[in-house]
This record gives sequence, structure tokens and C-alpha cells, in this order.
Amino acid sequence: MRMYDIIAKKKTGLELDDSEIEFAVMGFVNGEIPDYQMSALLMAIYFKGMTNRETVTLTNCMAHSGDMIDLSDIEGVKVDKHSTGGVGDKTTLVVAPVVAACGARIAKMSGRGLGHTGGTIDKLESIPGFNVSISREKFIDIVKRTGLCVVGQTGNLAPADKKIYALRDVTATVDCVPLIASSIMSKKLAAGADCILLDVKTGSGAFMKSVEDSINLAKVMVGIGWGAGRKCAALVTDMDIPLGAAIGNSLEVIEAVNTLKGKGPEDFTDCCIELSANLLELAGKGDIAECVEMVKTAITSGAALEKFCEMVEAQGGDPGVIRDTSLFGTAPVTHEVKSPFSGYISGMDTEAIGIASVMLGAGREKKDSPIDYLAGITLSRKTGDRVNKGDTLAVLHTSDEALVKNAQGHFLSAIRVSDEKPEQRPLIYAKVERYKVTTY
Ligand code: URA
Repeated sequence: MRMYDIIAKKKTGLELDDSEIEFAVMGFVNGEIPDYQMSALLMAIYFKGMTNRETVTLTNCMAHSGDMIDLSDIEGVKVDKHSTGGVGDKTTLVVAPVVAACGARIAKMSGRGLGHTGGTIDKLESIPGFNVSISREKFIDIVKRTGLCVVGQTGNLAPADKKIYALRDVTATVDCVPLIASSIMSKKLAAGADCILLDVKTGSGAFMKSVEDSINLAKVMVGIGWGAGRKCAALVTDMDIPLGAAIGNSLEVIEAVNTLKGKGPEDFTDCCIELSANLLELAGKGDIAECVEMVKTAITSGAALEKFCEMVEAQGGDPGVIRDTSLFGTAPVTHEVKSPFSGYISGMDTEAIGIASVMLGAGREKKDSPIDYLAGITLSRKTGDRVNKGDTLAVLHTSDEALVKNAQGHFLSAIRVSDEKPEQRPLIYAKVERYKVTTY
């Protein structure tokens, strides 16, 4: 078999067979196939697409390219959730302790920030002492004791995805449904959960900008999950506006803790309730109405907050900082962004707002750049709000005064204004199940 023939076949739009996909993926992982040939195949896939069968085969090859984690030692239903990435998306920090407080087990591997989007692992590392790299044995032990543990992906979890993703990032082949679906699902399958809920973000801050593409991506991923013997569903949720008010690592942990205390922003709280309830439904804990009630009780009773503190303590962090979030401290520089206009905020380029937060130090400009955990943005106004000239739109947080000017310019360029109040976008657009798509 020759990689040249496989590229040529896909270039003309023909369907690759299983052995050809396996040859390309394993050859690339082993270093026998060079970057330039894999890049050519990725671009051919970008333009010609893949059938569902090809996507399933690609996912399975990538999942089996490294460790397949065995969670069978942990009693009960093991659940996982995954977001396709967004700005201010701190849902794991709330959903994981909520579902654990409701009796599901969550043994989760999460990622770091990518481009304009934040990552759960960076957020957790903003908690003093919190350790995201622990041994497999300890990971399983913490889940058995507390019901939840969130760690970073080990080097050998779907290594094919790691290598292919790095190429996609520099060859403009990220925003492609079969490539995103196989990338996400290979890691989810390798991570071993029985039930997987996907939060497919849609809008200006998401990788998928249109609802139609997002539903399509959700369908492909849900199909892959069931095909691999996992219970799987997806919610397509809004990312045209940052979620909640906080963007940036410790700022987002604080907002998540406030939400676990029942004092979070409405949009973020509602999103977490929906995701948690849908995950519990998938895990067989009740129908959706019963699961919503369980979730609300887990929050109002304080049980979910206790679970979060237990996890933080088990992973070496200081639960005192969670109980009293003022101990996180504040960034040395805070700057209020004043509105240069009057009117309604009619839209926000959420990707640009994510980039403004990265510019303040909350994300990485380069692969190995350090993160300023206290940096970020707190939004005072969002899409749909009325503002007058001079009102505070947001507060920028950073350790370096020199970063403020450019970040403020970038932030302001992301805000659109109109005289008319814009129509409110829904928080949830669709639920994708094995045989059913419900749109809202
Ligand atoms: N997240 C992933 O893990 N992979 C993608 O391709 C896009 C988002």
C-alpha cells in the first residue's frame, strides 16, 4: 500500500477502505509517513469529506493508537462530558461536582486552552496546589473515594490525535466535521466512560459558527459514540456570546464556585443545569424532569459544592480557597472599559473577546507561554443590554499594564451596537440523541 495512492483516491472523492485509513494513521504515528503526505490527505478530507463509516474507522484507529483506559474497577455508571470549546466555558467545573453529588461517577480527562478558547486544566491549575498530573492508580482511587477526578490527558491518550491535531492547526484544516468528530471522539472513547454527553458550541466563539454545521457535527459524534458501545447524546448550545460574565482562569473558577453556591449568572447556571440533567438522564438516573430536580437540589443543598471541595482536596488543592474565593487574590492591574457609544449591544464577536483575554495573559500566545492565572475579563454588559456612553462594558484584569491598550482595542472592536434591541438567541438550539434530533 502507498500513501500516495490513498491521497490520490481521497482527492477524487472516493471512499477509503478501513485498511487504507489504518495504514495512513498508524504510519503517521510511527513516523513512517511524513508530515507533508499527511497534510495532503487532511486537505483532501477537508474538501471531499468522509462517509460515516470512514469517520468511525478514523476515530477507532486514533483511539487505539495509544492507551485505552479501563474504568471497570470503579463501581457505578461512569460519565463524561465534553465541550467543543468556547469563551467563558467553565461548565465542567460545575457539571462534574453536580453529577457526582447525584450519584454518577466522573473520571475525566480534560484539555488546556486552544486558540481563543479556554481549557479546564488551566482553570483547575489556578487553584493553589491543584495537581492535574497524577498516576492512573491514584486517579481511579480518587474517583472511587469521592466520585470525581479531573486530570490532564496523559501523553499516550490517542497520540494519533495529538500529532494530527498539531498538523491541522498549521494547515488550516481544523474546521472540518469528520476531523473534529474523530479528534474529539477518539479521546472520549480512549478515556473509558460508559456515557458521554457532548456540548457542541455554536456561534461566533465556537469552532462551528452555524447551527446547521453544529447539529451535523453532533449527529456524527453521537453516531460514533453509540457505534463504539457508549451511550451518547449532544446538546447544541450557544457560543455567540461568552458564557457567564467571567473569562480567564481564576476568574472562571470563582464564577463556577458562585454558581455551585446558587449565585451564578443566569445563562451559565441554566446551561450547567441542562448539561448536568442530560448527563444524568443518559446515565439512567431518571427522566429529564426528575434529573433537573436532582440537579437543583444538589446545588441548593450545598452537596455539589462539597463534592467540588472534596475533589480539590484529593488532588492536592486548598479547599479553603474554594470556600473563600477572595483568597485567590486579584490581578495587580484592573482597567474599566468604558462604552464609547450609546445604544443596544446587538452582537459580540466572541472569538475576538477570547483573543482579548489571551492578550491580557489568560491564554498562551505560543505553545509554551506561561499563563497569568489572575488575568482575564469580567463582562459588565452583554448582547441585548442597553448601554450609555461612558458606562462600564467590562473590566480587564492583568499583571502587565502594557497589555491593556491593545487588549482594550481588540475588545471594543468585538462589540456591535444598534438602536434596536436584538432578538434574544436561545441558550440551547438542539438535542441530538441516537435516533432523534429535537430543535428548540
Ligand atoms: N477539540 C478537539 O479536541 N479537537 C478538535 O478538532 C476541535 C476541538
